Amino acid sequence: MSGNAARVQAVHQIINRELMPPKPPERLEEIWAENVFNLSKMQASLPKPVFKSIKNTILTGERLDPSIADTVATAMRDWAMSKGALYYAHVFYPMTNLTAEKHDGFISVQGDGNVISEFSGKVLVQGEPDGSSFPNGGIRDTFEARGYTGWDVTSPAYIMETDNGSTLCIPTVFVSWTGEALDKKVPLLRSITAMDKAANKVLKILGNTNVAPVNSSCGAEQEYFLVDTNFASQRPDLLLAGRTLFGKAPAKGQEFDDHYFGAIPERVQVFMQDVESTLYKLGIPAKTRHNEVAPGQFEIAPFFEAANVASDHQQLLMTVLRHTAKKHGFTCLLHEKPFAGINGSGKHVNWSVGNATQGNLLDPGDSPHDNAQFLVFCGAVIRGVHKYGSLMRAVIATASNDHRLGANEAPPAIMSVYLGTQLEEVFEQIKTGTVTESRQKGVMDLGVDVLPYLTKDAGDRNRTSPFAFTGNRFEFRAVGSSQSVSGPLIVLNTMLADSLDWIGNRLESELSKGVECSTAIITVLKEVMEEHGVVVFGGNGYSEEWHKMAVEERGLSNLRTTADALPVLKEEYIEDLFEKTGVLTPVELESRFEVYAEQYILSIEVEAKLVISMAKTLIYPAAMNYLSSLSSTMTNLTSLGIELDKSSVQTIADLSNSMVAALGQLSDALGKHDFASTEEKMQYCAKTLRPLMDEVRGYADALEGEVADSFWPLPTYQEMLFVK
Ligand code: ADP
Ligand code: MG
Repeated sequence: MSGNAARVQAVHQIINRELMPPKPPERLEEIWAENVFNLSKMQASLPKPVFKSIKNTILTGERLDPSIADTVATAMRDWAMSKGALYYAHVFYPMTNLTAEKHDGFISVQGDGNVISEFSGKVLVQGEPDGSSFPNGGIRDTFEARGYTGWDVTSPAYIMETDNGSTLCIPTVFVSWTGEALDKKVPLLRSITAMDKAANKVLKILGNTNVAPVNSSCGAEQEYFLVDTNFASQRPDLLLAGRTLFGKAPAKGQEFDDHYFGAIPERVQVFMQDVESTLYKLGIPAKTRHNEVAPGQFEIAPFFEAANVASDHQQLLMTVLRHTAKKHGFTCLLHEKPFAGINGSGKHVNWSVGNATQGNLLDPGDSPHDNAQFLVFCGAVIRGVHKYGSLMRAVIATASNDHRLGANEAPPAIMSVYLGTQLEEVFEQIKTGTVTESRQKGVMDLGVDVLPYLTKDAGDRNRTSPFAFTGNRFEFRAVGSSQSVSGPLIVLNTMLADSLDWIGNRLESELSKGVECSTAIITVLKEVMEEHGVVVFGGNGYSEEWHKMAVEERGLSNLRTTADALPVLKEEYIEDLFEKTGVLTPVELESRFEVYAEQYILSIEVEAKLVISMAKTLIYPAAMNYLSSLSSTMTNLTSLGIELDKSSVQTIADLSNSMVAALGQLSDALGKHDFASTEEKMQYCAKTLRPLMDEVRGYADALEGEVADSFWPLPTYQEMLFVK
């Protein structure tokens, strides 16, 4: 098929397609966690002492008693086989933001040629997936392939059902033969331990005698796009890069805001319900769904859970979104910026810390000014964001998120904290050395008797802040939609651990002078605010003035691109932070820099190659075909004595020539290989390759506006965003 024939066919197929019938309603209580080997299933299938022991490990983080592993493995296998699984997989989370799994059968061949099913404690607890192809940032050479997976007892095993069968999935850590973390789970677990230790210390100083382990919680809001697969499969850029590298803006985009929170299209709602029922079976508490700002963009948010489980569930949620979309004829795009000029997708990481004895430590209550515990924890966060803002920026730095940050639709690349009016006032008072009051919640009378009084929160929200307090948690809004939430959670927990540790030491030294605890708290928090208060900002984060003020007056850094941000990982104070909290060794940290830098460079190089091939093999030929058709028409007409205006022929010829010239430059630029360092190569990608890609795109998109639609080979923005 040439020209737009394939597109026309796709539109017909979409319009005439039969919707997948919605699933019959299922009772939530019946399907909830049906596919999860959770505590209640363990209780039903394990001998009492074994259950008690494993429950203790799960709830308190105590080391697993190796002698019970065989019994647990057998019960897990029997349960999995009763649900049709013949294979199990150690699932792990390499540094690529992806989820990896290695499948093994329960099958064991006996001497007599018969088979039995077998699953021992040993293979449950430890696997050796080889995994030599996963990036490890120089920790090991490819010939030193050994890598081990180890069972994370705190994240429940589950059955993954696909049309091809069921597999028992076991969440694991992934480490090298030398014991270094090669994944995102090990440091996340370590960061929780570090934060727990520091939080415990502070809570005890504050006079608590009964202090349960402190954990962090995470609820992640996931934004995504759905594009019909009939279109997506005709776009090499969507298939290989996850975003469009070409495409002229449609006459109508999102300017009417008519998609945001609008009625969910029928076909999409059927898809969402399918996703939700799968998630419920997997014990993932999907809670919120709505249309997002851009046409074709949606959001799903589960109820928050313990950080480690939330992180595994988040990875699983992305997998379920992709798989289910396929079933419904959609391609789910998790890329941060699938369409230029249209809002991109983020993942808001809602984060709080708490425990069973003190509750949510970031809950201010009704009168935050006299809630010492809250003030200390909130103060610790403020200090953390100021000291380690660049690290927060580095951990969300990817080639894809660069399109979003600072683009007036997502928070800027400058890290600041939004507290809301009420808390801002309280922390302003702290600076003066006395806190006496906090603004109270209000009541709104809407002036119509039948309407109820609505309560008004003591502080508003701020969409433009990268890190905002939202009532009883912080919301890290700058995280990219395709990212694992582990990285951001590791940084948040680790910087909090560092701040709490510092505050604990300062409090101890004040108390040793014999002052009252409340006085000591104000003294220390005053110090925190004097030194770190500049990071608190309640205004418009999109504005020019803020960008100037943040950098020039407040000394905050504005690391615009990944090339600017990633080198932060190599700074000494960051190495110190991770080393003293025990979250990452210097070798592990260094390897992370290498892996993330390599990923950045590779993504841009792949995109650049794709720009070249699409422009040469799809766009240029379309322009030439149209030109030849135009010029032969003109020649024919001239022979009849009719002259047509030739300006469009000239325009297309000029644009085509300019595009070819830009392509030549991009090709040459891609050929450069002599770089003094990884940092230099990253800068080259950001400052040379990307602008050249944009230049090619500029000419190509202009051609799309000149060439007859019937000659255009790529599904257009209009079709991809609006035809459902
Ligand atoms: P928004 O109004 O910001 O779009 P959503 O309802 O879409 O909010 O998502 C808010 C997310 O924050 C949910 O995942 C929710 O469970 C989570 N959340 C709520 N309270 C906490 C908390 N204390 N700690 C962590 N996450 C929380
Ligand atoms: Mg939301």
